[in-house]
Amino acid sequence: MNAEGLNQRQPGTEAETIVSMCGICPGGCGVYAYLVNGQLDRITPLENHPRGIVCTRGVHSREIVYSPDRLKHPLKRVGRKGEGRFTEVSWDQALDEIAQRLRAIKARYGPQALMTYVGRGGFEQSLVDIYAPAGSFLPAANNVLFPFGSPNTAGCNSLCYVTHGLLAPIPTLGTAADFMFSDFENTNLVVVWGSNPATDSPPIKARQIVAAQRRGIRLVVIDQMRSAVARQADRWIAVRSGTDGALALSMMNVIINEDLYDHEFVENWTVGFDELREYVAAFPPEKVEAVTWVPQEVIVETAREIATARHATLCHYTGLEYTNSGVQNIRAVLILWAISGNLDVPGGLVFRPRSQVRFNRTRIEAPSSPPPIGADRYPLFVKLTKGAQFMEAPRAILQNDPYPLRGLLVDGASILTSYPQPDLWAQALASLDLLVVVDRFMTADALYADLILPATTMYEITSYYKSPGYVQLRQKVVEPIGEARNDLLIFAQLAQRLGYGHLYPQTEEELLEFVFGDSGISVEELRRHPEGMPVPTQPLVYRKYAEGLLREDGQPGFNTPSGKVEIASSLLAECGYDPLPVYTEPVEGPLGSPELLKEFPLVFNSGARIQSAFRSQHLNIPGLLKMQPEPNVLINPQDAEARGISDGDKVYVRSPRGQVPFRAKVTDWVVPGSVEVNVGGGGPLQPEPWREANANYLTDMGNRDPISGFPVLKALLCEVQKA
Ligand code: SF4
Repeated sequence: MNAEGLNQRQPGTEAETIVSMCGICPGGCGVYAYLVNGQLDRITPLENHPRGIVCTRGVHSREIVYSPDRLKHPLKRVGRKGEGRFTEVSWDQALDEIAQRLRAIKARYGPQALMTYVGRGGFEQSLVDIYAPAGSFLPAANNVLFPFGSPNTAGCNSLCYVTHGLLAPIPTLGTAADFMFSDFENTNLVVVWGSNPATDSPPIKARQIVAAQRRGIRLVVIDQMRSAVARQADRWIAVRSGTDGALALSMMNVIINEDLYDHEFVENWTVGFDELREYVAAFPPEKVEAVTWVPQEVIVETAREIATARHATLCHYTGLEYTNSGVQNIRAVLILWAISGNLDVPGGLVFRPRSQVRFNRTRIEAPSSPPPIGADRYPLFVKLTKGAQFMEAPRAILQNDPYPLRGLLVDGASILTSYPQPDLWAQALASLDLLVVVDRFMTADALYADLILPATTMYEITSYYKSPGYVQLRQKVVEPIGEARNDLLIFAQLAQRLGYGHLYPQTEEELLEFVFGDSGISVEELRRHPEGMPVPTQPLVYRKYAEGLLREDGQPGFNTPSGKVEIASSLLAECGYDPLPVYTEPVEGPLGSPELLKEFPLVFNSGARIQSAFRSQHLNIPGLLKMQPEPNVLINPQDAEARGISDGDKVYVRSPRGQVPFRAKVTDWVVPGSVEVNVGGGGPLQPEPWREANANYLTDMGNRDPISGFPVLKALLCEVQKA
């Protein structure tokens, strides 16, 4: 299709096609949006777009955009907190009142008593460029209170992504995970470790893996669950949750003992190898089999495969994060890739070539003191995210420790369904002097809000999307529903009332001019190419560390303090942690708590995504809900039979924290002795079976990874019984 003629109105009809992006999630899938009588009707994937996909949730765009459940007007609470009684107010009334109450809290407790919190609903690309703290590219943050004096911004990165994205790769390899990719096109072996690319938003890697398999590569999947990708693999390695670090260390034991490691790389480009050699001696496969449930011969064979594949790529994501040694487990896997000669080589785990275009960002810094909440316990987290660790928020709200937290602005999140022990969080939210929720739908958190502000879906805004080597204008597809406003402008309008609106674009036009102004790619060019444009990028070369292409100073080496891959991490040591990728046995597990095992004999896992929802989102959309009307616990036939449970039975999953009803799905997708429960339940718009099934009544605020502060959401213990 000719780029000039992409947007079309069919003559003599009320039908129209707009080239834009899907507006349901921040995934940036290019689409043709078909409108009838000015309303979004359906979308199809945009030809030749780097995404080229419309996922299940995108297919249901129309239902989501025009859902009768959409928040359409600003609301002010008139009932008790949590009761859900609100009255409509004007935008001016709402924003004026929020500004006035923020000032009152600042006057009484100091600006640090205020915090922003961002969930995945607030991840739109422009929000990242305008509201991420200076030096951070994390979407789960909002700097709008920094100029007001507060250092506190937090988000769902307090329990998701940051371990994989920053805390493991930066101390080890000197770069964030986003700046690396799996070289599927040139590899001989794909190892998918603790990830299910089929449920990604969008599932591009799943498509790349299928293409690589057609080429004849070998696919190995290491996962506690036989996921979609595991079912298409040459080998599925069923590892016990939380023990992936022990498995990686054991593979390194084999690779070092059999002299299969890359001597040149280890000698010239790593620090800490001798200490590693000594440490992994305690992880022989015959011993690690009992820890990981992986047969010793499988450990040996897989280690040999990774070291001799020439080359093996790693496909991983957040699956290893939610355990007692999430940071160190992921570090162990990255180090395994480095010493086996699979880092930044054709077919390996590769650093992305740098973009040659610089788009503008606000780069607003947090006040230098006091430190954000959580800095005392999780210094590496705070240092690398430049935000607060939200797991510490109840301590600040309920105990004024390290200082009071009295006001919270929440954008596109669902705290009460995401964090362990929802009753504790409900108590914390109810105790605040001010809770503001910006969202598209009523959430469990919003029931406790003083004010609720209705936000647009991304179909209702003008913005842009950047992916490596590509940029595209997000053309507005439909007008905002009701009085909903762009999240970006809601916070900019609040900043205006607080006296510093000039720091933020106040219109969508200003936004585009600000971001693209000096980049060399003009807004006019983007408008002429609604299908998107390539962004000039350095050519792909391998072994960039040897060419001085990784460090800011242009010197050879990695972007770590030593310039080497830090097997022994100086950053971790500086923050008081063990510098080696040490393994910690799950605190609550068959080996960690044998007494508890008598009453709770099954390993509890949560967090595997389902196609019809994104966590608590979309469980009120009939077309999606019918794909899975009720939340499941996946249980192996052997364990089900022992408990008299049949497929489809209503059951209770019990843990030391409580019990939650689920529907049993009896399947060999999970191994005997282990279950997987669906998350996302607990939202007020959900049908009863989901509303009653908040899996986090089973998890534990006190059980965390000591480096990230993430709660352990996998690798706990439970029992399942018939209801
Ligand atoms: S991943 Fe799905 S919901 Fe997200 S933008 Fe792409 S099509 Fe839309």
